[in-house]
Amino acid sequence: MSVAGIHHVTAMAGAPGRNRHFHAEILGQRLVKRTVNFDDPSTWHLYYGDAAGRPGSALTFFPWPHIAPGHPGDGETVETAFRAPAGAIGFWRERLESHGVACAEDERQGRRALTFRDPDGMAFAIIGVAGAEDEPAWTVPGIDEAQALRGFESVTLAVPDPEATAAILRDVLGFRHSEARPGYLGLAGSDSPLTAVEIAQSAYGTRPRLGAGSVHHVAFRAADDAAQAAMAQTLRERFGIAATEQRDRNYFRSIYFREPGGVLFEIATDGPGFAVDEDPGHLGESLKLPPGLEARRETIAARLPSLEREDA
Ligand code: ZN
Repeated sequence: MSVAGIHHVTAMAGAPGRNRHFHAEILGQRLVKRTVNFDDPSTWHLYYGDAAGRPGSALTFFPWPHIAPGHPGDGETVETAFRAPAGAIGFWRERLESHGVACAEDERQGRRALTFRDPDGMAFAIIGVAGAEDEPAWTVPGIDEAQALRGFESVTLAVPDPEATAAILRDVLGFRHSEARPGYLGLAGSDSPLTAVEIAQSAYGTRPRLGAGSVHHVAFRAADDAAQAAMAQTLRERFGIAATEQRDRNYFRSIYFREPGGVLFEIATDGPGFAVDEDPGHLGESLKLPPGLEARRETIAARLPSLEREDA
């Protein structure tokens, strides 16, 4: 069994309450998991996605209330694009602008794309895609099925040598070359619905400094442990790049490596998914901890910052 596509995108944010308000209430994503950074349990790890947070829809954040903004450089993810029904772009423009979010529009292969930034400066697009209205939707008050976001359409990477990054996506992660905007290399997965990666050339001459609004890593899909191990083997044998040992992230199992352009890539298994430790009908409603941290629950919970907006 093989599947290629985006699994999740993980970014860095400032105030957690502001992050939750923007992504769950304004963009209408489901908060599918509230847990902590397993490597730093004093920090939230918030997962947003569609109703199930299935691979291809999960946007996750490490929010640090006092983090400095990120600075751009060579080797980073410069845009994360969601898919929405083709007729919903006007709705989204109006909704975002009514919340004081500046928007711009461009056209990509005949499709309308709305671009904007979240309160931490992370760059997003919503792309109007014909047929997206037939995909399952998570709806919240004010956003109905004809408008709701449907998971990721693409991520855009900016690296010094796009071909070198494309080779990893193609030969290790199972993507194939596809059409893209002029000036970008395009690759598409084999998942359904399709997710894509666009690669632009960057020429800063320096590495980015990650901070609020920066994407920390992009995770790609592996159907299971065996598929993940095969990908790691190809990476090692063909590209001389060693991935980390597998780490258990509770909701998936992951390995990590830095691709030749400098972007941190993760390969994550499709399973077990977000229903592994709570009822699918109540995802994200309470703090979930991995077994190793359960004994310290009270201390951890007391130190976590509020998920309510400070200015609300
Ligand atoms: Zn990840």
